[in-house]
Amino acid sequence: MTLEYIEEVLKSTKINHPDEPEFLQAVKEVITTIEPAVKENEEKYKKTALLERLVEPERIISFRVPWVDDKGQVQVNRGYRVQFNGTIGPYKGGLRFHPTVNQSIMKFLAFEQVFKNALTGLPIGGGKGGSDFNPKDKSDNEIMSFCQSFMNELQKHIGQDIDVPAGDIGVGAREIGFLFGQFRRIRNSYEAGVLTGKGLEYGGSLVRKEATGYGLMYFMREMLKANNISIQGKTVIISGSGNVAIYAAEKASQMGAKVIAMSDSNGCIYDENGINLDVIKRIKEVERGRIKDYLLTCPDAKYYENNAGYQAIYNIKADIILPCATQNDINLECAKRIVEQGTIAIGEGANMPCNIEAVNYFLEKGILLAPGKAANAGGVATSALEMSQNSMRYFWSFEEVDSKLENIMINIFNMCNEAAQKYNCPKNYVAGANLAAFRKVADGMLAQGII
Ligand code: NDP
Repeated sequence: MTLEYIEEVLKSTKINHPDEPEFLQAVKEVITTIEPAVKENEEKYKKTALLERLVEPERIISFRVPWVDDKGQVQVNRGYRVQFNGTIGPYKGGLRFHPTVNQSIMKFLAFEQVFKNALTGLPIGGGKGGSDFNPKDKSDNEIMSFCQSFMNELQKHIGQDIDVPAGDIGVGAREIGFLFGQFRRIRNSYEAGVLTGKGLEYGGSLVRKEATGYGLMYFMREMLKANNISIQGKTVIISGSGNVAIYAAEKASQMGAKVIAMSDSNGCIYDENGINLDVIKRIKEVERGRIKDYLLTCPDAKYYENNAGYQAIYNIKADIILPCATQNDINLECAKRIVEQGTIAIGEGANMPCNIEAVNYFLEKGILLAPGKAANAGGVATSALEMSQNSMRYFWSFEEVDSKLENIMINIFNMCNEAAQKYNCPKNYVAGANLAAFRKVADGMLAQGII
């Protein structure tokens, strides 16, 4: 009977949200794993159309972003903000600037964010936004022009008690600075808590930059520990070389593991002696260059080019794999190769980097899988800590924030682990995360009535 209700909701979601494959994938992944929790309250959920409301965003804002490039030519992009579910607190979630951005990707990310934010235990609802603007190869002036135009519209819909955006792919400290400046100018008010990921000079939090990557490794350490495995001496490969990837690599090394490969959208570098992270930071954070440039400083490393639909990095054998680039990086074929190579654990730093078939295959083969909505929640959790510091007009030291982050990640792992055990799917942290988060969001939605 319960399955029937879930299937009905999946069917109606497909009809109501056509041509949105990423969103449907995210909904399916969550809805099919929460059956035991739905069963407990089925009557109530059906009567209040709880699942139907859960998969429908509270609001989607889509807008034109005109801006002028360095040649004086007007360019037009499309901007989005999806305010998916504000039950637990103000909408909270990053902004992504990437040419692949569309409504389906925005909705999938916002939907995931609802559950992720619930797992942090902090008072934040779920949202996400962005634009199909490509910041690559743009001058600082063009980035500023775009960010200002984007904020001219976005400012109508955000606020520290309404919706608090942050960074994501293509949106780092530079973009947040331009966005915050324009917000402040238009509103003539210093509302520091309206954006997170701010610079340290103007209301940012220590550890925010490191938080997603560090948090991923805290979660990974807890998951391995619960399975009597030590992280010490393990080899690690990390897809991506952006914010999440770099700080996951840093924490992995601090924990005694050896990072041997990293990538970008063109290809990957393999350094059997261990990646020199200072070189990666210089290339990616300062020069905004390509990962291939690593060979200019470390000529003994190897570089492998990606082909269409094929990420070279997953041919490299490692104990731990951290996909930290983008969604649907790992499909079934890739998952089979990874299992054959003897990997013991996967930690999703990115959102939905493994597709559903790959997730199911890993679980079937007993690979430990840290799901993104739990394992990469350290970023948003630290954003919420940034909001707290802004409200207090005070700041905590690096050690204070880092220790709060570590405790939050330990709690998140424990919640996933306990839910997995309670609902008879031990070691399935994917289901554990969905079940624990669903219970919290569903209880809040029921308490707040039909809205
Ligand atoms: P960045 O923009 O800093 O870095 C993204 C990295 O992924 C780059 O190395 C980029 O390579 C690579 N990449 C992007 N798209 C593709 C693609 N289609 N194929 C191959 N590689 C690609 O982003 P973040 O590190 O902030 O985000 C990475 C992931 O983590 C995303 O899924 C994001 O949603 C998720 N995440 C981020 C959080 C944060 O705090 N930043 C919080 C939680 C999740 P290239 O430079 O060549 O494009």
